[in-house]
Amino acid sequence: MGVGPFKVYNLRRDLFQPSGGGNSKRHRYLFWFFLFVVIIVFAEAEPQEIPAARWGKNGGNIIRYVETQEKVLALTFDDGPDVATSEILDLLAAYGGRATFFAVGKQLQMFPELALRIVAEGHDLANHTYSHPRMNSLSEKQLQEEIGKTEDIILKITGQRPRFFRPPYGEYNQALADFLAKRGYTIVLWSEDSRDFARDRSVEKIVGNALTGLQSGDIILFHDGGPREMTVTALKLILPKLRAEGYALLNLSELTKFNRERKETSESGWARVTESVQP
Ligand SMILES: [Zn+2]
Repeated sequence: MGVGPFKVYNLRRDLFQPSGGGNSKRHRYLFWFFLFVVIIVFAEAEPQEIPAARWGKNGGNIIRYVETQEKVLALTFDDGPDVATSEILDLLAAYGGRATFFAVGKQLQMFPELALRIVAEGHDLANHTYSHPRMNSLSEKQLQEEIGKTEDIILKITGQRPRFFRPPYGEYNQALADFLAKRGYTIVLWSEDSRDFARDRSVEKIVGNALTGLQSGDIILFHDGGPREMTVTALKLILPKLRAEGYALLNLSELTKFNRERKETSESGWARVTESVQP
């Protein structure tokens, strides 16, 4: 703030102009202390490399979409792996797209071969808890169980540690954000919601929801957990359309490389976002 150099000059003069003994000694301590403070302040003020996906209030580490002019998108599938997953993988392979699967630990234990296939085909396998609880009421021990257990399962099956986490129902608070940041996770929400979980869903609505207002850098929410015939049918319409419009479908590891530092858009900060109720 302009205080540093001026103060240093004064202290330096004090230091090299001996006055009363004790006083000068105290000044010397003061000088070194001040130099130390100035160094720390300037070191802190140095432009730091900010991880691309890190922004938001309260040091949060949350992305909803990525700021880019490039025609890139991320399709994300929650709550699997499950019976619909292999069909979704077939479609992604047919259209040359990669996606991210936010898997639930319980489901991974039932379908480890699908977890292996997801990773083998270039998709990201990400953490969506072990049992899909509401996170805001959990203790740190419970957070560890839900997140750590699924992390261990993914690591054991694929040899890779997940980097991305999506909280069930999109619910998060400061404690969860801190817990995840310490463990190197990025929280990923979404900017386009296909609403393929809605009670009144239809193929037409899913397609409309996924494509309406779509922009470069969007993260689209789908589900592969549970019976998802409509999601699969909708993807058969969505994927050729996205390809015709020139979008590259990337996993989150790839998409987040396009991210520029930006401000959290939500004024309310730690707003509750509702993914709606899942079975
Ligand atoms: Zn979910």
